[in-house]
This record gives sequence, structure tokens and C-alpha cells, in this order.
Amino acid sequence: MTDLYLDIRSVSKHFGELAAVKDVSLQVRKGEVVSIIGPSGSGKSTLLRCINQLELIDGGEIAIEGERIIAVEDGDRVKLPEKQVRGGLKKLGMVFQHFNLFPHKSVIENLIEAPMVVDRLRRSEIEPYARELLSKVGLADKADAYPNRLSGGQKQRVAIARALAMKPDILLCDEPTSALDPELVGEVLAVLKQLAGEHMTMLVVTHEMSFARDVCDRVVFMDQGGIIEDASPEKLFSDPDHPRIKLFLRKML
Ligand code: ADP
Ligand code: MG
Repeated sequence: MTDLYLDIRSVSKHFGELAAVKDVSLQVRKGEVVSIIGPSGSGKSTLLRCINQLELIDGGEIAIEGERIIAVEDGDRVKLPEKQVRGGLKKLGMVFQHFNLFPHKSVIENLIEAPMVVDRLRRSEIEPYARELLSKVGLADKADAYPNRLSGGQKQRVAIARALAMKPDILLCDEPTSALDPELVGEVLAVLKQLAGEHMTMLVVTHEMSFARDVCDRVVFMDQGGIIEDASPEKLFSDPDHPRIKLFLRKML
């Protein structure tokens, strides 16, 4: 078993003529928390969606813990064992900007759905752990509530608990606080910070510069589909190599 949890090599994704992701390589090691920052339209979401195959890449390859889950050589998809691909994808948890909870299911049902369907566990086998996760995100008392009764911050904490219910090795988060009212951002960041403290491996697209600076081990800056810098927060925020990053940070901070 490798401690290289996520290995993205020369990945590209086009939408027609547009190269949304261009020759991106990025590695995340076990226990690392890496943030991706950069202007709107720079390919951050597309890159995350390529990792969990919500988008199919048209160049490069992606491996989870040493096993390739997708690879394209000379424009053709490489045939990989289905078990290997499914196994790799199962190690990924995803948290979306707009929560994507099942609206017609209660909070606890949202958490137990995937373990029941994907892992074929019985409700009684998964429910205690699901309740533990709800306590962890501070929502033990909301188990039977429906999503439309929750604030945005509560919804996103449910979404994080739901992702964790599948016991992922890597948590991918796409702007988890961007849809929230400012006063609700902190409660979600606190949960992510707690997970980072527990050495959860995470790749987080964010506009929260303080989170990137204070919580992450590395910060990756994307611009026009490419990674233009991948550095420690100290380096990236105080002395970035690229003038575009300086400009971006001046606007953000
Ligand atoms: P970011 O998350 O950094 O704001 P995105 O990954 O969403 O950027 O988008 C990168 C580029 O790809 C943008 O120009 C966007 O308009 C384009 N794009 C994203 N998804 C699609 C799609 N499904 N079809 C066509 N173009 C898309
Ligand atoms: Mg995005």
C-alpha cells in the first residue's frame, strides 16, 4: 500500500474547443490537506469532477492509492479492471457547493442511503455509525429532520457526514462554503478543520483564504485550466512566484 493517496498525471479535459483542464499533475499524500484556489472558470470544479469521474478525462491518468481508476493513452481510454475502478472510486467522498442532499429523505436516511445501497449493509448495521457522525458534525438532534428544515450550514454539515458515512480515504470538497451566508461559513470550516486535525486526507477547492492558509499543508493555484503554483501556504501567500497569484491575492485579502 502506498501513502500516495491521489496521483493525477497530465490530466486534460476539454469541452469542445475549450481546455477546461490542461495537463494537470497533482499528488496528494495520506493525511495531507491540499486546497485549490484560483479565479472563477480556471477549471477547479472540472478537475475535482474528473477525479470522481463525473467528467471523463481526455488525456492523462488518475490513480488512487497506486491503482489507476482512469487512463487515456493516445486519445483512447485504457481498459482497466472494473473492480479496480470501482474500488478506487469508493475511496473518494465528495462534498458539493450546493449540498446535493436527497430532499425527500431525512437527515439520517441521507447518511445511510449509500452504505445500504452500495455496501448492502442493513440499516441496523450502519445507523449507529451514522448517528456518531451526526454528533461529530454537531447535528445529533437533527437525525429525523428533513433538509428543507435546515440552514445552509447545517445542510453542508449533513453532506459532510454523509460523505464520511462511506468511510472514504479522501474527501473532495468543491467550494463547500460558497453557497452559505457569511455567518454560517465558520461552522462548516470548523468541521473541515476538525477532520484535518484527525488527518483526514482532503482536497478542497475554496475561496476561504484563511482556511487555505491556516489549515492546509499545500495550496495549489489554478489559472486557465493549469496549475501555475503548488506550494506551502507560507510561500504561496507571502511570496508567490507568479505575478497573477499576487494580483489575485490582492483582490481576495
Ligand atoms: P471553476 O470551478 O474554477 O470556476 P470550472 O471547472 O467550473 O471552473 O470551469 C472551467 C471552464 O470550463 C469554464 O470556462 C467553464 O465555463 C467550462 N465548463 C465547465 N463545465 C462545462 C460543461 N459541462 N460544458 C461546457 N463547458 C464547461
Ligand atoms: Mg467551481
